[in-house]
Amino acid sequence: MSSTLFEKIINREIPSDILYEDDLSFVIKDINPQAPTHLLIIPKKVIPKLSDASEDDQMILGHLMLVAGKIADQLGLDETFRLVVNNGAKAGQSVFHLHLHLLSGRLLNWPPG
Ligand code: 5GP
Repeated sequence: MSSTLFEKIINREIPSDILYEDDLSFVIKDINPQAPTHLLIIPKKVIPKLSDASEDDQMILGHLMLVAGKIADQLGLDETFRLVVNNGAKAGQSVFHLHLHLLSGRLLNWPPG
């Protein structure tokens, strides 16, 4: 049985539109979007949070960034997007399976909240 929410999604136990999938990662739309485009780029390997990643995960972490760039390009986001990783509950993390948020389609203020 899958344990994390995102494992359940990639194992098709919970329905979700999977926009992209490869051997290492997949991309879904966030169910509660914070911008007109709000995607989650997720490794298939369960790393609970970024600070749990090790040297062994270097390739996966780089891969997620490259997937983000590729998806943004495919969606024609005009090279204007933001990637966010919430690390830990106090930083807003609610699903403990590492993921990148890709936000685009509105003015993204700085500093973030
Ligand atoms: P976090 O808060 O851990 O940084 O991000 C988790 C994200 O997962 C949130 O933005 C939340 O809206 C999204 N999320 C929670 N449950 C589901 C779900 O069942 N399906 C999808 N597609 N996204 C979800």
